[in-house]
Amino acid sequence: MVAPAVLARRNSSSTASTGTVARSANPKSSTTFGSQRATYNGSGLHTAGIIHVLGAGLAGSEAAWQLSRAGLGCILHEMRPVRQTQAHRTAGFAELVCSNSLKSDSPNTASWLLKHELRRLGSLAMQAAETARVPGGHALTVDRAVFAATITAALEGAPGVEIRREEVLQIPEDGIVLVATGPLTSGALASAIARFTGSERLYFYDSISPIVDAASIDRSKVFAASRYGKSIDGGDDYLNCPLNREQYEAFVDAVLAAESAAPHIEDDAEIHAGRVPFFEACLPIEELARRGRETLRFGPMKPVGLVEPGSGRRAHAIVQLRQETQRADSYNLVGFQNHMTFPAQKRVLRLIPGLENAAFLRYGQMHRNTYINAPALLTPALQLISDPRVFFAGQISGVEGYVESIATGLMAGRFAAALALGEPLRPLPRATALGSLTHYLTHADAKHYQPANIAFDLLPALEEELKRKLRHDRPGRHAEVCRRAQAAMDEYLGESLGDPLAKSTGEAHAAPR
Ligand SMILES: Cc1cc2nc3c(=O)[nH]c(=O)nc-3n(C[C@H](O)[C@H](O)[C@H](O)COP(=O)(O)OP(=O)(O)OC[C@H]3O[C@@H](n4cnc5c(N)ncnc54)[C@H](O)[C@@H]3O)c2cc1C
Repeated sequence: MVAPAVLARRNSSSTASTGTVARSANPKSSTTFGSQRATYNGSGLHTAGIIHVLGAGLAGSEAAWQLSRAGLGCILHEMRPVRQTQAHRTAGFAELVCSNSLKSDSPNTASWLLKHELRRLGSLAMQAAETARVPGGHALTVDRAVFAATITAALEGAPGVEIRREEVLQIPEDGIVLVATGPLTSGALASAIARFTGSERLYFYDSISPIVDAASIDRSKVFAASRYGKSIDGGDDYLNCPLNREQYEAFVDAVLAAESAAPHIEDDAEIHAGRVPFFEACLPIEELARRGRETLRFGPMKPVGLVEPGSGRRAHAIVQLRQETQRADSYNLVGFQNHMTFPAQKRVLRLIPGLENAAFLRYGQMHRNTYINAPALLTPALQLISDPRVFFAGQISGVEGYVESIATGLMAGRFAAALALGEPLRPLPRATALGSLTHYLTHADAKHYQPANIAFDLLPALEEELKRKLRHDRPGRHAEVCRRAQAAMDEYLGESLGDPLAKSTGEAHAAPR
């Protein structure tokens, strides 16, 4: 429950700028806001002052949680299981559709910094990740079923969160709206968003890499090693499949000749016209091969830093296999995302030495990734410039990655709560990872916008003199950026005294274990 002092403060001073919003501190109570009355009667929310959260994925779940923490009700609309996406398999909230990794949790990495800030702001997903944690080296890896179940249960029990299992077809006209329908937003809503924002629908194609059964790898042809011998625990972490020049050339020919799978969005004129926009950091191998016969050798097949033990030879090209499970019973082909047909993948990938009899547990696939042109459309508080009652969060807002989606969900939830309560919307400081993500979203080049993961590049650069001083000390530079980020967050939270979202660790809002 929200602390009584907070309720008293809000009840006396709030004037919601978009009208009233439903309150949830007491499910059976009705609460007065400004001049209007908003009620949550335990069975449904008053439509006059509703907050709609569209999508209960990573971003939408986090946003709904933040609204509940602020003592506000919301309607959380989720179309699954009534309608599935092409990637989700369950009806659980915050389902992780591909990898089970929330990336590095090593202090002073950019990804750690983002998670650290989320923890400080009471993120539900970060609590659930702790509950669902499985060993994963320096990464925060989770049991995806436990993760989704923890978040689903938390939201089902969260005060004021009304869950509706339905597909939303357009942006609701009433109340505050937080759009978090993800990269696989259903078609009707994606078109409605395009109309609503007055822009073209934006998308790129993203791909996932194949996984092979460990028992089907011919160990006599591969060798274990980490590139340049680098590994957190000093081990030979990868299996490496070496190719000589002839094998590499034959492989490139086969990739170039392979048939592509049909796009799963039938009416995508762009793909049929051969103008498919890919995510540059995650290009399918066919696209790399099309860009030049040597491109793969400078990309996922680069042989540098790997010497064959025994012979001491350097291969012309190398395919790396990374352990997928703790039991080491499957491996993924690193950087081998592709969208060849399944029979073509089986044929082409079996040309790789060591994989001649590979049994594929998952084939590479390509998926659509819908996002808006954030720099042209959003304020630093993730609101539409043209209609500030509408917020965007998650992948559709123009970020890339699980944790980045959670991060924008958390921020948009907080901003929406502030708007509903008639309080100032306070974007996170630029020096923080959260602030840097929104800075990128709103300041990147709108003409060539591409979603981004959190990285030190997005955070403010150090002064030239300090950079020079630390030029041979990368960890030192990163530590300094993180130190500054944390100091900025301290200051932000210090200024937030009285803000229950910043202070609260309320037991009622601890995720169930
Ligand atoms: C196939 C695939 C693989 C990916 N792999 C990774 C990975 O390994 N690591 C990584 O960091 N990131 C990955 N991503 C990118 C991204 O991090 C995830 O997509 C992440 O889930 C995005 O979070 P989100 O909250 O924006 O969207 P989602 O988690 O997808 O949530 C959106 C929710 O909205 C619902 N929805 C959609 N349309 C409607 C509608 N009209 N009405 C009601 N509900 C609707 C969906 O059912 C879904 O539950 C991947 C993306 C895809 C598509």
